[in-house]
Amino acid sequence: MMRTVLDMIAGRDAPQPAGKPGIGRILADLDSHQCRFPLQGDGAATRFCAAGVSEADWLPGFPGRCYCTFHRSLSVGRGTEAERAAPRVLERLAG
Ligand SMILES: [Zn+2]
Repeated sequence: MMRTVLDMIAGRDAPQPAGKPGIGRILADLDSHQCRFPLQGDGAATRFCAAGVSEADWLPGFPGRCYCTFHRSLSVGRGTEAERAAPRVLERLAG
């Protein structure tokens, strides 16, 4: 079955970190090498994906390099227009 953009935005197919239930973690709870892709919320309440990022992929400061494989594929590379628009859609949903 094709994965829709809305499914991806909802994080339904995103890898889930072990431990805490619920969607993502706030920034204060993130360790190094955990995906910084914002899933929902605003400001200090923003919840990030927090899936593990491998040492080889972790390069904060470079586009997409503080995201897990799943979210990096959403944010960089040859994504579709809908995929590139996903962060903007996310902002609208969060707002
Ligand atoms: Zn992620």
